[in-house]
Amino acid sequence: MLIVQKFGGTSVGNLERIKNVANIVKSYREKGDDLVVVVSAMAGETNKLLEYAHYFTPVPPQREVDLLVSSGERITSALLSIALQSMGVPAIALTGRQAGIKTTSDFTKARIKEIESEKIKKHLNEGKVVIIAGFQGINENGEVTTLGRGGSDLTAVAIAGAIGADKCQIFTDVDGIYTTDPRIEPNARKIEVISYDEMLELASLGAKVMQSRSVELGKKLNIPIEVKSSFEPFKTGTLITKESKDMERIVVSGVAIDRDQARVSIFGVDDKPGISADIFGRLAANNINVDMIVQNVGHDGKANLTFTVPKNELELARVVLEDYNEKASEISFDPKIVKVSVVGIGMRSHSGVAAIAFKALADRGINILMITTSEIKISMVVDEDKGEEAVRALHQAYGLEKASA
Ligand code: ADP
Ligand code: ASP
Ligand code: MG
Repeated sequence: MLIVQKFGGTSVGNLERIKNVANIVKSYREKGDDLVVVVSAMAGETNKLLEYAHYFTPVPPQREVDLLVSSGERITSALLSIALQSMGVPAIALTGRQAGIKTTSDFTKARIKEIESEKIKKHLNEGKVVIIAGFQGINENGEVTTLGRGGSDLTAVAIAGAIGADKCQIFTDVDGIYTTDPRIEPNARKIEVISYDEMLELASLGAKVMQSRSVELGKKLNIPIEVKSSFEPFKTGTLITKESKDMERIVVSGVAIDRDQARVSIFGVDDKPGISADIFGRLAANNINVDMIVQNVGHDGKANLTFTVPKNELELARVVLEDYNEKASEISFDPKIVKVSVVGIGMRSHSGVAAIAFKALADRGINILMITTSEIKISMVVDEDKGEEAVRALHQAYGLEKASA
């Protein structure tokens, strides 16, 4: 089989662990598989490099930030190749550029445009394990770009598509996808198979176990993705794949928490056409990503508008909406909120799913600040310090715990 394997930050977190990865790769190879291996930087490395960049200025130039942070993955890819070769396994390490990964020019959040996969294939044909530094590529001017946080997942899935791999394995520090983050709810249950759509919702609603763009691409290219642990590499993980009929029987498959959102409320603006267009037009013009939006029915010609934006864009939103201090009776900016969500494709065909969530939170006295729903998810904003309790309450309310031993 031709497999793309990706090892995350914890899995390559020190030299001993890189050796462990080399052993895993060697054993797959001995089974006869052809391998391309994508690596992340050592755990904590990307954060450390970003901190360095911000030592000098709060707004470091993005081009240099990308050049800087891409180095973390260069280190681990070269070390893994050295480790493998020292064990007698032919290998070669490539940067994103050397692997032919072409991206847009949006530094720090570039998109992959194409992968010139001939080089990777050539090295594979020579019998080598091809190791690729994740998270990076080059733009049309040859400048180094990066793919957004967690972007090595995207590198792996995109390469799997480009070389026609049979599957993509994501090795991490948990042995699969759980019904919620097992760090928050120890009774979370491991999921055997999950659809791309459910995983995509969970990932974009905060389950950082996979980068959401990588799941989106996996779906588009129909690449089977297996999430497994680098500490128990031969244990079956979770398969992310196409939806099948029997998946609909499960109403709710998981609960996610997103701590990166903040809330903006504008009270007492004129209830007339054009106000929303103005507010959201300005935010869009400044590339601020608005997520949940709730508008209250107007009274006395005035209306209230509440929405969420990413936490790190809240200050910019404050500046952009400066003159609403006069146009509105009050405007508030609240970073101390989280969004908790329940996800499941079975919601399409079952009723009363939302009521269970509201009751679960009400029973614990957790106030719901905002609600939005779609076909396969319900999202609720609650106070930051109630977030984890809300996750546990929802997890229990939908009976997601593992069967007691
Ligand atoms: P890596 O460095 O390997 O990319 P990440 O830290 O990005 O690893 O993702 C793994 C982590 O994701 C786990 O340690 C776990 O705490 C977290 N996580 C969040 N939601 C889930 C979930 N539903 N199932 C499994 N892990 C989850
Ligand atoms: N090292 C990068 C990050 O921490 C990319 C990755 O790990 O996927 O975001
Ligand atoms: Mg990750």
